Amino acid sequence: MGNDPQQDLKRIVGQVREYLTAQRELGLEHTDLRWPEAAAPAPVARPTLQQIREELGECTRCKLSKGRIQIVFGVGNPDARLVFVGEAPGADEDAQGEPFVGRAGQLLTKIIEAMGLKREDVYICNILKCRPPGNRTPEADEIVACQPFLLKQLQAIGPQFICALGGPAAQTLLQTKEPISRLRGRFHDYHGIPLLPTFHPAYLLRNPNEKKTVWEDMKFLMRHMGLAT
Ligand code: URA
Repeated sequence: MGNDPQQDLKRIVGQVREYLTAQRELGLEHTDLRWPEAAAPAPVARPTLQQIREELGECTRCKLSKGRIQIVFGVGNPDARLVFVGEAPGADEDAQGEPFVGRAGQLLTKIIEAMGLKREDVYICNILKCRPPGNRTPEADEIVACQPFLLKQLQAIGPQFICALGGPAAQTLLQTKEPISRLRGRFHDYHGIPLLPTFHPAYLLRNPNEKKTVWEDMKFLMRHMGLAT
């Protein structure tokens, strides 16, 4: 650099012009003028499911910690293409430490197997990791406390598809109040991942005639996943 800033600027502009002309002659119409580190950010190491579980610890971030037997973190393939997200553990899940193992869970397992998959192929988790008293609907403060861990789990797995089971799961993930009857059956965007809401298996136990609706939703999902229907 010299003593005359105006001359310096002219020289830099001249150099940029020469560079761009040379690029155009090479047939490059668009030039990335960002600094190399901005153009290619260093990859950020994502925590593993095990690290996320360790960070969660013996969580007391919300009032549900007082009534639970244990935390129900999630189960299944850490590289799953498909993640099922339910609402919250019930009594059976609280006792066994695994999501969807009670009656609704057995129906979910049947649905997964009817898709030609096994429970071990997918990942299964919930909006909340602790059982709400009497299986009541998750409350806002509980969702707020638990949500960062679910988000990290989904980032760690990086699924190609998410299936939200029931209204509370779908509404929480999609940040909407729309009823599940209007949300279900089509993909919604969840941070770039197609998310399909469908009815919760517990709802199907009470309304068995809606099983065919869920099966239609699963066939829609399978077609997009390239699974034989
Ligand atoms: N219902 C849910 O939403 N999640 C479970 O884990 C069990 C029942």
